[in-house]
Amino acid sequence: EVVTRFAPSPTGLLHLGNVRTALLNWLYARKHGGRFLLRFEDTDQDRSEQAYIEAIKADLHWLGLKWDGDVLFQSAHAGRHSDALSMLARQGQAYRCFCSEHQLSLDRKLATSRGLPPRYSGRCRGLSADESVGRAESEPFVWRMAVHTEQGDVRVQDALRGEVLFALRDLDDPVVVRSDGSFTFLLPNAVDDALDGVTHALRGDDHLTNSAYQVWLLERLSYKPPVYLHHGLLLGADGAKLSKRSGSHSVVELREDGLLPAALVQAMARLGHPNMPEDALDAASLLAHFEADHISTTAVRWSDDEMWRWHTRLLHGLDAAQLAPLIKPYLPDVDAERLLRMAVLIGGNIERVEDASAFARLLDAEAVPGDEPAAILKAAGPAFFVTAAEAWQTHDGDDWKAWLNDVKAKSGCKGKGLFMPLRVALSGALHGPEMSAIIEFLGPDGVMARLQQACQ
Ligand code: GLU
Repeated sequence: EVVTRFAPSPTGLLHLGNVRTALLNWLYARKHGGRFLLRFEDTDQDRSEQAYIEAIKADLHWLGLKWDGDVLFQSAHAGRHSDALSMLARQGQAYRCFCSEHQLSLDRKLATSRGLPPRYSGRCRGLSADESVGRAESEPFVWRMAVHTEQGDVRVQDALRGEVLFALRDLDDPVVVRSDGSFTFLLPNAVDDALDGVTHALRGDDHLTNSAYQVWLLERLSYKPPVYLHHGLLLGADGAKLSKRSGSHSVVELREDGLLPAALVQAMARLGHPNMPEDALDAASLLAHFEADHISTTAVRWSDDEMWRWHTRLLHGLDAAQLAPLIKPYLPDVDAERLLRMAVLIGGNIERVEDASAFARLLDAEAVPGDEPAAILKAAGPAFFVTAAEAWQTHDGDDWKAWLNDVKAKSGCKGKGLFMPLRVALSGALHGPEMSAIIEFLGPDGVMARLQQACQ
């Protein structure tokens, strides 16, 4: 059985980069009829927060990325991690390192000045067990894995790249336990993958070297490493790493902006996955066309515009019952039935849900129009609307074209100068549904009320 996982650290809100990783793991699991686990890597007790755990769960839920089984917490398995470390230490594959920060920085400078990579010198690797235990009583220390060696290699199985070979002489002796006793990312992440039964770990290619260390580690513990799939990173529209400045948002922000979750899923699922058909408009069709080996190993660029384009397209595909609750926050108090009629009327004319607020006048004759529409009303002037209102009284509303001709004849206005002020007076907006539909929606009294309002 295929088992994937999303393993965020609850030290912040869910961002676009996380969404991509979560989505790919979800797609992979669902595609193969497997399981998708959610595991919080919360061993950094100082920075992990319950509020982030809740927020990340809520965001995944909103996106429709349902995980299987209970939520897993890395912190609940401290025993696994220390057992793994003990085993490595017993085998001579992990050792205490007493080097001070100062010493390490001198080593790095020395190495760099000789044109060598700034790797750990190996100074503490040869300490005898007695000396190591003795010094540990009075000196601070970290634990390192004894990876670096002149001979041999480690092979990472990567679903996109095939077997990736790392020579051990190019690897370092990484810190696995900090001086405060906490584990770094490498060991708990790998050990949990093994013990949680993870078969496939999809993650950014910034983890490729970590995978080499983790495969090395799992092999020493006689665990089977998962197949890794390292996808190309997600960059900002400007090609720089995603950050606030290059347009990264938290999922919470997008949700507050009224984004349809499916639009984010669409834009994300298509990134670095060419050949996804344009008409795969829901999660099931995305899934049907998802091919893990299409995922690109090169970086991809995020585009907000593309996401909002999907938003508009999906918005236009909603029926009135689905749209009504989405536009409700942007319209003044309105009963359910009128809101539904409103959704039918303007559904095809809005690009974002908040655009509905431009049409507030359809519901309330006294709604104050925005700056541009207000300027149009002002330019037309009260006399124009007096003429329009008087003419309206002589028509029964069915024949609105006759009314228009009447206004045209009496006011001397034509074309845009005739249509625009009337459209704005009735709907509040410069563009939108057909005049006939607007007039039908308002009914004769509604039209009259808005024309009279515009006379003032
Ligand atoms: N907690 C790690 C991270 O957020 C997990 C990486 C992985 O997927 O293995 O980067």
